[in-house]
Amino acid sequence: MLIVQKYGGTSVGNPERIKNVAARVARFRQEGHQLVVVVSAMSGVTDSLIKLAKEIMPLPTEREMDVLLATGEQTTIALTAMALTAMGVPAVSMTGAQAGIVTDPVHTKAKIKNITPKKVHALLDAGNVVIVAGFQGETPDGLITTLGRGGSDLTAIALAAALKADICQIYTDVDGVYTTDPRIVPTAKKLDEISYDELLELASAGAKVMQSRSVEFAKKFKVIFEVRSSMNDNPGTIVKEETKSMEDVVIRGVALDKNQAKVTLVAVPDQPGVAARIFKALADATINVDMIVQNVSHGTQTRTTDISFTVDKPELLKARKVIEGLQATVGYREVLADEKIGKLSIVGVGMRSHSGVAAKMFETLARESVNIDMISTSEIKVSVVIDLAKAEQAMRAVHTAFLG
Ligand code: ASP
Ligand code: MG
Repeated sequence: MLIVQKYGGTSVGNPERIKNVAARVARFRQEGHQLVVVVSAMSGVTDSLIKLAKEIMPLPTEREMDVLLATGEQTTIALTAMALTAMGVPAVSMTGAQAGIVTDPVHTKAKIKNITPKKVHALLDAGNVVIVAGFQGETPDGLITTLGRGGSDLTAIALAAALKADICQIYTDVDGVYTTDPRIVPTAKKLDEISYDELLELASAGAKVMQSRSVEFAKKFKVIFEVRSSMNDNPGTIVKEETKSMEDVVIRGVALDKNQAKVTLVAVPDQPGVAARIFKALADATINVDMIVQNVSHGTQTRTTDISFTVDKPELLKARKVIEGLQATVGYREVLADEKIGKLSIVGVGMRSHSGVAAKMFETLARESVNIDMISTSEIKVSVVIDLAKAEQAMRAVHTAFLG
């Protein structure tokens, strides 16, 4: 079999761990498999390179930033290849460019255009383990690019697609994808499988598992992958297209996002075009809006309504400024901001075929005396905004109600 393995920053965080990675790779090779190994920069390295750059230049030029950041992964490929060679396993390192990864020219967040893994194939056929630098590629003109933070996952998934690999394994410092954050909910369980869409919804609901772009790419090219630990041999979580049996489970996971803030415009005139003006202004300021709730209008003469929306906490100040700038044209009574909120979400494809899922979530919250501020739903997700002070307690209760 042809196996693509990806090791994240923690898994290659020091020489000892790099040797452990090499030992694992060697074991798979002994079983007769061909291996392509994608590695991240050693943990903390990318962050410290960014910090270094900013000490030289507050807004570093993006072309040079990519040249700099690519060195993180270049260090790891060389060390990993050395570790394998030292164990007597033939191994060669390759930069993203050498592996044939071509991207668009958008420095620091380039998109992969195509991969021509001719040299990778040739080196594999000659009996080598091929170690490829994650997170990087080159433009058609030969400039070094990087794929955005966490981009090594994308390198692995894209290479697995291009090489038509039999398996893609994403090694990390957790055992797989959990029903929820085990640090907050001790009864969280590791999932055997999850669909691409569920993982994407959990990620957008605040669960930190994998770079969403990588999951989207995997979905598009139908790359089945496994998230598993580099610290043990436990089977991980298989991420794949939805199957019929996945719907038997009502809820796959619960996520809590503590990084949102709520803005409310009180007494906004209820007229055509008002919402358009508000959200156009936010979009023009490149502020990402997540949930939006508009109340039923009240008042008899000039009908008014309240509009609330959520944004990422770091963007709250900016959002507030934009809204304050609209006071004259839109005309509302006042603007309120609340940073002390949590967005609690339940996700699962089983929602399509089970009824009463939202009701059960709301009843559970009621029993905990948790007030619901905002609600939004998608086909496979229900999210509520609640008081931050009660958010973790609510998360535990909802997890127990659905997942035990
Ligand atoms: N080293 C890069 C980062 O820290 C890419 C990765 O780790 O996936 O974002
Ligand atoms: Mg990383």
